[in-house]
Amino acid sequence: MSAETLPEGLRRAVARLARTPRLLVVCDYDGTLSPIVADPTQAVPRPESMRALRSLADLPDTTTGLISGRALRDLAALSGLQAGENLHLIGSHGAELDAGFAQALDDDAQELRRRLEAGLAQLVGRTPGVLLETKPASIAVHVRRADPAVGESVLDAVRSGPARWKGVHVTEGKAVIELAVVETDKGAALDMLRHQADATAALFLGDDLTDEKAFARLAGPDLGVKVGPGESLAAFSVPDTGDVAVLLDYLLAERGAWLPGETRRSGD
Ligand SMILES: [Mg+2]
Repeated sequence: MSAETLPEGLRRAVARLARTPRLLVVCDYDGTLSPIVADPTQAVPRPESMRALRSLADLPDTTTGLISGRALRDLAALSGLQAGENLHLIGSHGAELDAGFAQALDDDAQELRRRLEAGLAQLVGRTPGVLLETKPASIAVHVRRADPAVGESVLDAVRSGPARWKGVHVTEGKAVIELAVVETDKGAALDMLRHQADATAALFLGDDLTDEKAFARLAGPDLGVKVGPGESLAAFSVPDTGDVAVLLDYLLAERGAWLPGETRRSGD
């Protein structure tokens, strides 16, 4: 696929964005960089997208980041990306900025997390296809592999039970509900990256409900692109992760061509 497969309006918007003085490029992981798969531990990213992100991070005045609902260590392992000066990994919907995060929880939050873990384990029991994912500051209940009716009833039980406990912050996604003991928000994480990079414009790409909080923070010269079908606050949408790879590659080419001559890449 080449850039011609992108809608013309989107192509123009990407070319415009490529000419901003300090660019921030932020992507969700699952469903955006990697196709959605039944087993979340096997979600492999598209190599073209990862190549483009690495190359963008190597350009001057260009910062890239991943913001995911996954635990930070899983995100690093699956994406194969190593956080660096111009490449940031943020896990747990913005709650996890580095690997030492669990120790940063105060006593109340740690106690609440222990109660949540016990409460959810009891509620879920041995329901086939339902998976608890334990993260430093949250626990996610995945029902993607469960019978749909069973999955929905588990989600309902979580919503009317532990999700209402004091101090619990709820994030819902596709076939997953996550209960955190700290406030989590992809929009807040995006703003933090924007501030750190002193960006003059940002691109955000995402596919899920949780990504809408990031789209909601975009303004002015920013660009939001929703991956897949469904209502969104993003100005543009593309069908799937293949289009994300094309878009990132096009952005890399446009920005490389626009930046001063000595920093231009040879197109490798
Ligand atoms: Mg996603």
